[in-house]
Amino acid sequence: MLIKTVLSLCDYSGVWSQPYADTGYNVIEGEEMEIVETKYDGTVIVGTHYRCVGSVRGWCGVKHRTNKAAIRCCERDGSACRKQGGYSDRVVCLCDDDGRVKGHPEYDGNRC
Ligand SMILES: [Zn+2]
Repeated sequence: MLIKTVLSLCDYSGVWSQPYADTGYNVIEGEEMEIVETKYDGTVIVGTHYRCVGSVRGWCGVKHRTNKAAIRCCERDGSACRKQGGYSDRVVCLCDDDGRVKGHPEYDGNRC
């Protein structure tokens, strides 16, 4: 199977790239870099991008560069689901290059 990739270099909101993600493209937002987060309990987690994932809704298909863009993506997904009478179970997770979730209580260590 051919995997098409779109580089989304200036789309901080994720709005521009979402249609590509929805139709099966591999979307990479901006330059991948190391993101370091310190949790409330002092645990340090390191990843390269954020993903919106849910056990029912799955992964949104976008590697978000910022937490803010991922939150907006989850909000859009929730809004779209509510219009159809449902809800979205997607949450924002920090992931490493391989798509492995880092530090999330429910999805830690899972690969999206
Ligand atoms: Zn997303």
